[in-house]
Amino acid sequence: MSSASRIWTSIDFDQDGKQSDYMRVPYSSDKSAYGWIPVPMICIRNGNGPTALLTAGNHGDEYEGQIALLNLARQITPEDVRGRIIILPALNYPAVVTGRRVSPLDDGNLNRLFPGEANGGPTAMIAHYVENVLFPLCDIVIDLHSGGKSLDHYPVALARPGLDAAGAAKNRALLEAFGAPYSVVTSGEGGGAGTTLYAAAEQRGIPALTTELGSGGTLSARGLSIAEDGIRRVLKAYGITPKIQAVASPGTRFMRSLSRGGSIYAPKTGLFEPHVECGEPILNGQKAGLLHAFDTPLAEPTSLVFGTDGIVLCRRFPTLTERGDCLFLLMVDED
Ligand SMILES: [Zn+2]
Repeated sequence: MSSASRIWTSIDFDQDGKQSDYMRVPYSSDKSAYGWIPVPMICIRNGNGPTALLTAGNHGDEYEGQIALLNLARQITPEDVRGRIIILPALNYPAVVTGRRVSPLDDGNLNRLFPGEANGGPTAMIAHYVENVLFPLCDIVIDLHSGGKSLDHYPVALARPGLDAAGAAKNRALLEAFGAPYSVVTSGEGGGAGTTLYAAAEQRGIPALTTELGSGGTLSARGLSIAEDGIRRVLKAYGITPKIQAVASPGTRFMRSLSRGGSIYAPKTGLFEPHVECGEPILNGQKAGLLHAFDTPLAEPTSLVFGTDGIVLCRRFPTLTERGDCLFLLMVDED
């Protein structure tokens, strides 16, 4: 399971200074028999100290994190650092260059493939390298996501519930340092469950957070500033960039995502007409929207109703909907 990675790089993780190269993922194709996929990687190190791993582009159509990490990689100098920062702004590079959630090479959804495979497809090989080469170097992990093309997402930071009380406290401290307006503790089930990057970090006892910062495959200015400000606060709080400029957080509101029990899924194929927005408070029994049957013009649209109180965390972005699509997910205040 943990056979050696076939990915290589010219970066020496023990060398001081700012280095930029690639995770060189071997990929033999019609176009390039002995070639490799260039996954951009930057290492900024200055002496001993903690290491932060910062990733974005895990899903290729989520942009706030990609731009935040490109900005930080340019702006942070080795002189700012006490320890090490490893930055991968386009982690699933084949997905990033095609603007897709998953890789066009193997249909790999990187955030569903941890802990990866040394000899799997390119996406599984990337997961395996993060798991077996990068995680052992790291003290904290931040993996930046957004809603992508299929979701309108309220901007939040998220962390797993932790394997035990100590893990929960470490994740909570990281969320507090990041200081997004809303911090959501996920249920640990649903979504990617144990196959995500931040779940894999949790398994190794590394404090990890992820984000959902925007919607519909475009860029939210608010989401971008939440990402940049949050990372600067974390790097400062953990002593990695002690003197860097960081805007103070106005404070974070701790929430819990409801997962399946607080979701509405499309009961049939149709055209989705939402009646509530992300961030809106919801009462049990409130109308969520309608699903119109384009193939049965005179049929009454199906009424969608919330089954619990909460706040809208995300909703489906495209109108065209198939049975099983997630239309809404709610979050609630922590008890
Ligand atoms: Zn994502």
